[in-house]
Amino acid sequence: MTKFVGAHVSASGGVDNAPLNAMAIGAKAFALFTKNQRQWVAKPLETKTIDAFHQNLEKSGILPKHILPHDSYLINLGHPEVEKLEKSREAFIDELERCRILGLDRLNFHPGSHLTKIPKKDPEYHDKLIHAELQCLDVIAESLNRAIEATKDSNVKLVIENTAGQGSNLGYKFEHLAHIIDKVEDKRRVGVCIDTCHMFTAGYDIRTKETYDETWNAFDKVVGREYLMGMHINDSKPKLGSRVDRHDSLGQGEIGWDAFKFIMNDSRMDDIPLVLETIDESIWAQEINALYTFIED
Ligand SMILES: [Zn+2]
Ligand SMILES: [Zn+2]
Repeated sequence: MTKFVGAHVSASGGVDNAPLNAMAIGAKAFALFTKNQRQWVAKPLETKTIDAFHQNLEKSGILPKHILPHDSYLINLGHPEVEKLEKSREAFIDELERCRILGLDRLNFHPGSHLTKIPKKDPEYHDKLIHAELQCLDVIAESLNRAIEATKDSNVKLVIENTAGQGSNLGYKFEHLAHIIDKVEDKRRVGVCIDTCHMFTAGYDIRTKETYDETWNAFDKVVGREYLMGMHINDSKPKLGSRVDRHDSLGQGEIGWDAFKFIMNDSRMDDIPLVLETIDESIWAQEINALYTFIED
């Protein structure tokens, strides 16, 4: 087996429940929040929770490299205000530590947002926007360098997710991901997660074999396939290039089944977590099953 498909499962009641929730839907990979994703602070993981997590993981047969924890939604590693940036950086380091303590090797996060509001009628709109974006990408890279420095003895990789580019969220272009990686000093500690919905609404088509190949060739060229450490497998409610982040169940959105068939037969996606974040968790087991039936040998 080369493909490891699962879903972003609930960890409510404790992270040790996540492997059991994954097992219940036939997942061979999963994502989870290691703390409440809507709160800044969480109490440290207790030994008994960590032990139970490992016991349940063993039961599930899922390997740590097929688990893609996601950080809190509150964190903005590109925040323009010093105080809030510091708070984000601290919280991010804590998230990395929680992953290390759980024996996990990667942490998925959204790059950050510049939050600058430039009126569209401003004659210098375009230049100002590019400036805000580049400045923010540099702040994000600096956040990553600091986090890596603060967790020197850890091998947890910082996995940057591409975004739909809604609002002032960065990471909607492959060039953004490449810009950040380029400025990270220790490249062994950095990776990328590609979300199919975000990719599509950011303007990268994957619906036909031609467009799929074109998009992934661009990824290989701009970012580099060696950085791909996970994927979010979602269909999209909004249209190509709409820059709106709204997931749909597989085959029910604008992307359609073919793209997911291509992914299941693409060796670039071997041995990494392929995680559903689709909207109807009652059909996750069916979606996982459907994806596996696509594999041609
Ligand atoms: Zn995602
Ligand atoms: Zn999304």
